[in-house]
Formats: sequence, C-alpha cells, structure tokens
Amino acid sequence: MKIAMLARNPDLYSHQRLKQAAEDRGHELDIINTLRCYMNIASRRPEVYYNGEKLGHYDAVIPRIGASITFYGLAVLRQFEMMGVYPLNESVAIGRSRDKLRSMQLLARDGIGLPVTTFAHDAKQTEEILALAGGAPLVIKLLEGTQGIGVVLADTNRSAKSVIEAFRGANVNILVQEFIKEAGGTDIRAIVVGGKVVAAMQRTGAEGEFRSNLHRGGTAKTIKISPEERSTALRAAKSLGLNVCGVDMLRANHGPVVMEVNSSPGLEGVEGATGLDIAGMIIDFLVAKAKPHATKTKGKG
Ligand code: ADP
Repeated sequence: MKIAMLARNPDLYSHQRLKQAAEDRGHELDIINTLRCYMNIASRRPEVYYNGEKLGHYDAVIPRIGASITFYGLAVLRQFEMMGVYPLNESVAIGRSRDKLRSMQLLARDGIGLPVTTFAHDAKQTEEILALAGGAPLVIKLLEGTQGIGVVLADTNRSAKSVIEAFRGANVNILVQEFIKEAGGTDIRAIVVGGKVVAAMQRTGAEGEFRSNLHRGGTAKTIKISPEERSTALRAAKSLGLNVCGVDMLRANHGPVVMEVNSSPGLEGVEGATGLDIAGMIIDFLVAKAKPHATKTKGKG
C-alpha cells in the first residue's frame, strides 16, 4: 500500500515510528511537507502538487498537522479526501477537535463528563463568568493554547479577574474552568485506535506544577484505567469522529472528565511509558480500513 503522511518535520519520533512501522509491514510511506503542497482548488479533478510535480496515487493519508497550521493543513487534507484517498482521521473530525469550544460543546451534547467550563466575549461579564464556573480556584485557558502554554491556575477570584483582564487586553479568547484539585497535578491520556483503547498512561506534573504536560517537565507511566475511563475515552473519540486520538482526562471526584482530545497524539511518551508498538497498531488499522473512496466526507462538511 502507498501511504502519504502530511507532516512538517520528518525527524520527529512519531513520524519516524509511523514510517518504520509502515515499511516493516511492506508498505511505502512518503512524508510530505504539508506547507509545500499546493493545489488548484477550482479544478473539477482534485489534485495536489508538490515540489513542482503532481502527486501520484496514494491509498491512504496520515495527517500529522501541527496546531499552528491547522487551517492550511486541513485544506490539503480535504483535497486528498476528494481524490478518494483514505484519511487516518478525517478533516472534519480534526477540525472539530482543534476547536476547544466546539469539541467541548459536542462532548457535552453527548453526555461526556467535562470540567465546568465557561466562555464569554464581553469583559463586562467577568464576575458572572467566575460565578458560573463555581468561583476560585479556577483554571483559565487560552482557547488556542497547546502544550500547557496559556493555562493558568488562579487561586482567588481577584487573581482570576486580573488574569482574565490581561488575556482580554491581549485580545485572545479564553475558557474559564473549574479546577479539578483532586487530580493532584496528574492526568490520564488514553490512546484510541479504531474504537479501542490500546494504551493508557498517567502523566504527573513536575514538583509544584499543576500542569502535567510532558513538555512542561511532567513524567509518564503506564496505568490501568477503569471501565468508566475507558468508555469515556471511546465515547469522546466517537463524538468527534476520530479514528485515532489521545483523550486527556482528569480523575475528578465524580468520575472522569475530558480535558482535550488530540487528533495527532505524540507517540514518544506513550510508547516509552507502556512499551507498546502503537505506531504498528495505527498502521494495521489504517491498512485494514483504507479502501478507495471509503472516506465518509470526501472533503465535504
Ligand atoms: P494544553 O492543551 O495546552 O495541554 P490542557 O487543557 O491540556 O492544555 O492543560 C494542561 C494541563 O493542565 C493538563 O494536562 C492538566 O494537568 C492541567 N489542567 C488543565 N485543566 C485543568 C483543570 N480544569 N483542573 C486541573 N488541572 C487542569
């Protein structure tokens, strides 16, 4: 099978592992720099150009589109979908997961546990927003943040108010969220591949840090998750329509709450912590599923 991987950095651990796993199974995998793709979007016959040439036939495409290039990357992926190439995750599903607000609204609609989360545009409503989120301590998050950057813990309503005002002054959108103190600086990431949880790890923040992101010095270890956590992860993946994703959850007193669903989960931390060949499982899933014109959306939606 011929597989294209849309990725910018071919040397990243996850990208190398996926390439290796595909080649070990006798497939061909080309890493294509998403930003170097270009296309005539008005053509009736959808095609993608790369390095001065029209791209040839691919059976499947693995989108590893960085958050900072979501807009362009999804346009390229839609083009592949219109050509009938099977995507590991569909463009619409990635689009849902990249928008924190939209994904939380969809998860809430499907009854999936979430931290109490509020959002407002107008700075005049700060007091109401704080009250609606349950009052301090509160977590304030940039809507567009990743890797824990732009996630702030405010211990008092007064500090929450100043943080909100500072973010507003910078003209960025924010979410104000209940702080799940009982999670103790630890979160759970469950990796879903094709409707199954194939691995789970617990990430714990560095000493004195409430954010458990590995990029922020957190550490990871393998854990056994509860049936409720497993079903929450699967329902979250289904709700957003992702075949492969990392579902980040916190253990709240009242059960698991989903923080975020990542459509291109990094493999290094989780393969390191669990010793599992997740890249291999992803390729096996892709190869089993990839049939010409099997994508549901064909670039629509
Ligand atoms: P990012 O998408 O930038 O990684 P997250 O929303 O995942 O941001 O938050 C980063 C980290 O902060 C999480 O992994 C978690 O450890 C911690 N965290 C985020 N939200 C909460 C919350 N509501 N309560 C407790 N801890 C939180």
